[in-house]
Amino acid sequence: MSLEIKEQLAINGGPKTINKKFNWPIFDQSDVEAIQEVAQSGAWGNPDCKGLVEEFEKAYAAYCGAKYAISCVNGSVALRLALIACGVKPGDEVIVPPYTFIASASIILEANCVPVFVDIEPDTYNLDPTKIEAAITPRTKAIIPVHFAGQACDMDAIMAIAKKHGLRVIEDAAHAHGGEYKGKKLGSIGDAGSFSFQSSKNLTSGEGGIVVTNDEALYDMMNSLRNVGRVKGGVWYEHHNLGCNYRITQLQAALLLKQLSRLEDQTRKRDENGQYLNGLLKDIEGIEPLKRGNGETLHTYHIYIFKYDKTKFNNLPKKEFADMLAAEGVPSFMGYPEPLYKQPLFQKKNFLCYAIPEEVDYTGVSCPESEKACYDDAVWIMQHAMLGTQEDMDLIAAAIHKIQDAVNS
Ligand SMILES: *Cc1c(COP(=O)(O)O)cnc(C)c1O
Repeated sequence: MSLEIKEQLAINGGPKTINKKFNWPIFDQSDVEAIQEVAQSGAWGNPDCKGLVEEFEKAYAAYCGAKYAISCVNGSVALRLALIACGVKPGDEVIVPPYTFIASASIILEANCVPVFVDIEPDTYNLDPTKIEAAITPRTKAIIPVHFAGQACDMDAIMAIAKKHGLRVIEDAAHAHGGEYKGKKLGSIGDAGSFSFQSSKNLTSGEGGIVVTNDEALYDMMNSLRNVGRVKGGVWYEHHNLGCNYRITQLQAALLLKQLSRLEDQTRKRDENGQYLNGLLKDIEGIEPLKRGNGETLHTYHIYIFKYDKTKFNNLPKKEFADMLAAEGVPSFMGYPEPLYKQPLFQKKNFLCYAIPEEVDYTGVSCPESEKACYDDAVWIMQHAMLGTQEDMDLIAAAIHKIQDAVNS
């Protein structure tokens, strides 16, 4: 690096390319008033799952084009309720990708089932349907496709495999509120679809989660499981199933109702910016935006991901590149440093009291595409930056050009 150009990099004390702060969450006085109203009413909880909680569930189900929705304390519990309600038994196997948040797989263990990792497609980073059938055994009961970063999985292919083998499909749509596959809202295509309202997610109430489904039996069971095993038509001190108190508060529901009214516009904005940024970045040597999946009609860009080729950046390691980009004012980082099966949880089988068969062993698992994404290729830009202006997208591209010029000079 020539000294003058090197000093221009923000990481070395030079001027940042982007000086604005991208805000998240986005709210105004009306959100504050909605919470204040509940606060003043004193009806903070929702012991009967009615009131604003039920109102929000109906609104969210309708938004997703699904018949039912069950809210609960977080997206991890939402996934686990859906899996348990599907009727899995101890030792059953569930297919999941390893390039995802821990909960996509840990909730399988918490249901006494065995996560079976199937690799991702190199061009979309979603579960690769062509690799699913080789992983199916007589014990396989379900598939958990993750709409990673808000990009739709190849749902036609996944649903066809599930149908052929009699498997349940639970969409992990924690990144994908409002996203669409062939015009259908994500989460409404499989047996159930799970969402998170954790603070970083595209729809948030700080914490929270929801499952949508069109299956009445699944709905009834999930409703029971999140409400201490009570059942429809039953009385207060009557517990039929092994559930727990996973209910959200009315305060969360009031906020979610407000936030939901902004979701569609925000999603379209991110999608528009994402497509615009794709056009800018594909012209930078050594930068390749992820391909939009087959059937993608609305990408939520919970994360904007591009692939980085260090050979076009003077062999600068990905982590250092990502740190330089963040220093330039782009809310970005290198993403997951390794696939899930490399975590001590799996390598050491720290499964505690859960009934996971002795012979299960993750030390030999290898998913090369996930490893390549983690170690070499993937760089993430977070969703709140994708709510910026077109000019902000130009500046993101300019920041990458600036780094490339500096490291190659
Ligand atoms: C956030 C997330 C979850 C779990 O959501 P929590 O609300 O944090 O429990 C599940 N899957 C994925 C892919 C996530 O990113």
